[in-house]
Amino acid sequence: MSLRDIYCQERGLDVLQRAYFAGRVAHAYIFAGPVGVGRFTTAKEWAKMLLCEKPKKTKKFADSCGGCASCKVFDGGAHPDLKVIQKELVTFTKDGKNKTTPIDLPIAVIREFLIEKAAERPMMSKHSVYIVKEAERLNNSSQNALLKLLEEPPKHCFIILLCSRTERLLATTLSRCQVVRFGAVDEERIAEKLTDLCVDQDEAIYWARFSEGSIGTALSWATLKLKDTSCYQIKRRLIDSLADQTLGGSLDLAEWFCKASATISKGLAAHHEKVSKKSLTRLAQKGLLKMAICAFADAVKVHLGKDDILTNFDQHKQIIKLAGRNDIEQSAGKIEKTYENLGWVDASVNEKLIFEELLLNYAV
Ligand SMILES: [Zn+2]
Repeated sequence: MSLRDIYCQERGLDVLQRAYFAGRVAHAYIFAGPVGVGRFTTAKEWAKMLLCEKPKKTKKFADSCGGCASCKVFDGGAHPDLKVIQKELVTFTKDGKNKTTPIDLPIAVIREFLIEKAAERPMMSKHSVYIVKEAERLNNSSQNALLKLLEEPPKHCFIILLCSRTERLLATTLSRCQVVRFGAVDEERIAEKLTDLCVDQDEAIYWARFSEGSIGTALSWATLKLKDTSCYQIKRRLIDSLADQTLGGSLDLAEWFCKASATISKGLAAHHEKVSKKSLTRLAQKGLLKMAICAFADAVKVHLGKDDILTNFDQHKQIIKLAGRNDIEQSAGKIEKTYENLGWVDASVNEKLIFEELLLNYAV
């Protein structure tokens, strides 16, 4: 893979390429945009090009060569001059033994894996590149500690902060970085990409709508391998169940949600070895809640006569049933309630409680 293979992020790439050819590549970038639109992939491929011994250049586009020693080591996944900074590193900090992965990006990780390391010379290439994942989780003290490095990074060093919520960054952080924006990808292009990967058409359209322009989200849900099932089958069952839900069956349904969440997080674990189990469980829980939100949002659309733009267009009958039991106000209330429980996921509330409370609420 190289910069040329990046899908649907022409604008962000263009900003980077123009800076490169003008000799003004920033040493501190913020790649801003929604989760899953390709910021990490772009940062990685940009790093590969910066580390490459002999980048391939046309008039307006520079790319990694793919053949030099640096590119080969990079493709092997172990380039010594590319460092990915994420909250999971906390267990490898000096006082981090037995620490669980926190919600915030802790200052110890920033200090020990970024600030201290950035001063060291690169080992293989002329440069070193640091990619900070989830920079929106940098708390104020981590950001303050980072300021000096962002202000005057060593010449060999490039830092890229990936951030989905720039409003959470301090003005002092923002002002020291060049912000490159990455936008949502068109629904049609996401569906096209999924069908290219042999995902069925209906399924592809569903995930394209579900992911709201996040190609990474669509890809990961549509292609996730699960034991004896698929995420799409889980979503179909979820919509069937919500359409036929009774108050008496709510606790059983909550139990099914817990089981589905466990199945999904197990599937995710096989693909994301470096991500903590807790983060993957949260991801699975949020995915199920998002499916429910889409169902009630569809019920609202039915009431407004907008049946042609349903996310669950493939289960139209069930959505009509759901809309029959919930008028616009009730549907909107349930969406709001689900967002509230999404917040509980980050606050590490017990999973059973999150689903039971929510499903009892749905049934009334
Ligand atoms: Zn190369």
